[in-house]
Amino acid sequence: MLTKDIAICIRAVDFSETSQIVTFFTRASGKVSVIAKGSKRPKSTFDGPIEVLSFGKIVFSNSTKEKLATLTEFQQQPGFTNLPRDLFTLNCGLFAAELVNHLTNDYDPHPELFDSFLQFLQSIHEARGIPASAGTGLPLRRQGDEGRKALSLLILFQLTLLREIGLMPILNACANCKTRYEIRGTRDPRFRGDRLAPAEAGGRETKDEANWSEVYFGSSANGLICKDCEPSFPDKIRLTKNAAACLANLRQIAESQEKTLNEIERLLVSHFTELLGHRPRMAKHILKS
Ligand SMILES: [Zn+2]
Repeated sequence: MLTKDIAICIRAVDFSETSQIVTFFTRASGKVSVIAKGSKRPKSTFDGPIEVLSFGKIVFSNSTKEKLATLTEFQQQPGFTNLPRDLFTLNCGLFAAELVNHLTNDYDPHPELFDSFLQFLQSIHEARGIPASAGTGLPLRRQGDEGRKALSLLILFQLTLLREIGLMPILNACANCKTRYEIRGTRDPRFRGDRLAPAEAGGRETKDEANWSEVYFGSSANGLICKDCEPSFPDKIRLTKNAAACLANLRQIAESQEKTLNEIERLLVSHFTELLGHRPRMAKHILKS
């Protein structure tokens, strides 16, 4: 039986002189591994060797879902192959592909995750491709801003991935005692200055505030951990206020400083290492020590 779909290549290894084994993340069927016979021949029907992050329409045959499927067509979408030429944004894409490969199961469809993945790849492509302005009166694009932008998009995609596979961390409360995490003075202007008098705020809120004078993240708890609970979680990592505020309000991530984004990414790498049982291979290309 032939199956048609759209797909992003998330892994490709050589099988022989002329063939590859390719893992695609497809929209309707989820992760599918295929043999691409003759893909490395100069005049292959797949437009040459298939590279990770290439995207297009595929047709594959698979009768049993147990054996390797056979790729019969792959029409790569023009302009989408060799996506980001900048090394860091390319590495962000490859890291995302590695995580999708390890955290999804064969023939387990996640169409919304597929759409987010495609959107992420297009966005990092665009973030890289915008030239510095000339004669428009706008300041030249700050060097390195493409990297910061790509990292912010990677973080948001990683959280989307966790949500789509049912492992979204708890980021608005303590994952252990459920005390809500509120950031006074930043989230709501009504909480600024004198108006946050203890009498007005009430005893319970003051206690909550004390709980959050230090904010931690625990992989085993799958979320934020308050100061009261942190002694019970040996694997916890302490967060800066900025990183904690970003995680509690993801809309802040796009505008965050690179330093905060690096801190969040380090945390996510540590979390993915726990989830996978090994450190993701691409992590070392993303983290700045
Ligand atoms: Zn707690």
